[in-house]
Amino acid sequence: MSKKVRVRFAPSPTGPLHIGGVRTALFNYLFAKKHGGDFVLRIEDTDQNRYVAGAEDYIVESLNWCGIPFDEGPEKNEKLGPYRQSERKHLYKQYADQLIANGKAYYAFDTSEQLDAHRKDHEIKGKTFIYNWHNRKKGRLVNSLVLSEEETKAKLSAGEHYVVRFKSPQDETLHLKDIIRGDISIDTNVLDDKILFKSDGMPTYHLANIVDDHLMEITHVIRGEEWLPSLALHQLLYDAFGWDAPEFAHLPLILKPTGKGKLSKRDGDKMGFPVFPLEYKAPDGTISRGYKEDGYFPEAVVNFLAFLGWNPGTEQEIFSLEDLIKHFDLERVNKAGARFDPDKTKWFNHHY
Ligand code: GLU
Repeated sequence: MSKKVRVRFAPSPTGPLHIGGVRTALFNYLFAKKHGGDFVLRIEDTDQNRYVAGAEDYIVESLNWCGIPFDEGPEKNEKLGPYRQSERKHLYKQYADQLIANGKAYYAFDTSEQLDAHRKDHEIKGKTFIYNWHNRKKGRLVNSLVLSEEETKAKLSAGEHYVVRFKSPQDETLHLKDIIRGDISIDTNVLDDKILFKSDGMPTYHLANIVDDHLMEITHVIRGEEWLPSLALHQLLYDAFGWDAPEFAHLPLILKPTGKGKLSKRDGDKMGFPVFPLEYKAPDGTISRGYKEDGYFPEAVVNFLAFLGWNPGTEQEIFSLEDLIKHFDLERVNKAGARFDPDKTKWFNHHY
């Protein structure tokens, strides 16, 4: 690798950090340290409706307890920090404007009622509503959703609320690469014209995420598989800005002990095992147990999490953090979902 490796863990503070998030942080950390690189913690808090007070502290305390230190982040603002997107919001607008100026994005003025009506209309016909699909297919901008330049100007000068949408290309096949999944092809006609900048003056996840990964010189994006559907848009955004995209690795899901479906907080509560590193008190007062309070060793939890979707290719099962750094390799991360076996956590704890 020629450039210095820089990776980030970019949680949204919308609730407590689930062990799936800790595993994502851990794989990022192991990869960074294996390659002598930096591990950045970035708090993605631009969605004010989903913001949960205290969630950031919970994330930081969890990583501290697990012994996964970050090199840059909210408390360590050596470079471009603090890395809280809400404190960097002045940055994102200029990038949205740049895309509009280059014809890669446009203003849209639809109200939520209008959008709901479009969605409903499609639902009745058994179709998924894809914003601007109709126009893109025909290569023209004439229906009610996308306005002419004059109409746009008139609405802007009348002070109407707007969002900025990305103009997805029509009739193209994108060739994407993922370190774990391999080659992926996407027909751009199935992509929505996603919102990049909202009417509340905040960027969406997609815009802020790409701009920050670029500004923070992130070389590898290692994140959960649920973000794989966003990969096409992210690649298109890098191309639209004329920036080199980082490499991507999407980690397999963590599955319920039965192997069917994604592990959830409810599985833990129901079956009596923790899915949180630390105890979590929900706004309704219910308490979910954490590994810390249950007397687990952080080393055992880290060891257990490392094996969720990765294996070293040897018989060794007990690894210190140093061992993990030495052996970790994204090439050995599985494609298939990783079944969460609560008995294994006990086994690991027993052996520390
Ligand atoms: N903020 C996103 C999350 O909550 C980050 C996804 C990414 O790593 O790009 O998971």
